[in-house]
Amino acid sequence: MNFLSLANAGIQKLTPYQPGKPIEELQRELGLTEIIKLASNENPLGPSPRVGEALAACVPELSRYPDGNAFRLKQALAKKLSVGTDQLTIGNGSNDILEFVPRVFANSESEIIFSEYSFAVYPLATMGVGAKPVVTPAKDWGHDLDAMVEAITEHTRVIFVANPNNPTGTWIPKADLEAFLARVPERIIVVLDEAYAEYLQEPDYPNGVSYISQYPNLIVTRTFSKAYGLAGLRLGYSISSPELADLLNRIRQPFNVNLPAQEAALAVLQDEEYLEKSIAVNTAGLRQLGSGFERLGLQYIPSVANFIAVEVGDNAGEIYQALLHKGVIVRPVANYSMTRHLRVSVGLESENERFLKALEEVLA
Ligand SMILES: *Cc1c(COP(=O)(O)O)cnc(C)c1O
Repeated sequence: MNFLSLANAGIQKLTPYQPGKPIEELQRELGLTEIIKLASNENPLGPSPRVGEALAACVPELSRYPDGNAFRLKQALAKKLSVGTDQLTIGNGSNDILEFVPRVFANSESEIIFSEYSFAVYPLATMGVGAKPVVTPAKDWGHDLDAMVEAITEHTRVIFVANPNNPTGTWIPKADLEAFLARVPERIIVVLDEAYAEYLQEPDYPNGVSYISQYPNLIVTRTFSKAYGLAGLRLGYSISSPELADLLNRIRQPFNVNLPAQEAALAVLQDEEYLEKSIAVNTAGLRQLGSGFERLGLQYIPSVANFIAVEVGDNAGEIYQALLHKGVIVRPVANYSMTRHLRVSVGLESENERFLKALEEVLA
């Protein structure tokens, strides 16, 4: 039996998401012990110390289902963001929500627009419902918002915009985002993916949440995986009009966000010191990596997120492998059609230094 031919048309053409190599896997493969992973844009600080306490405290409750509606977490987020709890949707990572949107609004007759070199989950979410991906060419490695608007047809249902973008680290300033939102017809859902929003210091960086009252077709996604340091627990959320939140909630698994994740998120939301430290370590790390690349004579895409794409040349795949043998895991981005780059996540100062030294040795 050829099961592939029985699979839904969109699924037949999919390639699974390729995650960064886990530390344990490299340990098994090469027998190395001192491994650093700068491959998945994780917070190098480890979780907030408050998270451990929150997790221990919820152990006695683990035999029960979590609050599927995340009452206390939604209260806390609503207060922090100045929105109503009815505007929030919680997800098992923001990835969960990126999948909800095509499931609610698109089918095999639909088109979904996203940019070249943007997040790998957008094609997965699109093809998962059999919709047609419409990929617009990038401009200076970032989104060409005019091209995205021009790609709209009567079949367009959703547009994914990442600000800042992964894997390039580019970002969209206020005026450009505003002009874009004004041009997109209201019948098309705009997903503004702000996974790295907390890191941004630029005064001209638009806070997507502030446009929701004006644009009821806008869904802003955020996550606890990056600046809040909880990638392993899987928790993200979206902010939108109550109408869209209601629709997303109709297909959300009843208990998609587990109890430890909810409790940990509540704890880290109260730890402002942790968030500030995350931002400070990241800002310093971006500078450290940038000047390291300049010293090595390498071009890189200026980034405002917690990673940088650096151009290492046609043999990027070999350089990635050679770095693995030195116990340094970064991310090849050939699957994003960026064959000359590697993406490196910002680590602790010592990790960045070790990576730069390993890179220098490998290139020599
Ligand atoms: C990391 C990332 C996410 C967040 O994924 P989670 O599922 O919340 O861990 C979303 N969008 C982009 C662009 C990302 O890089």
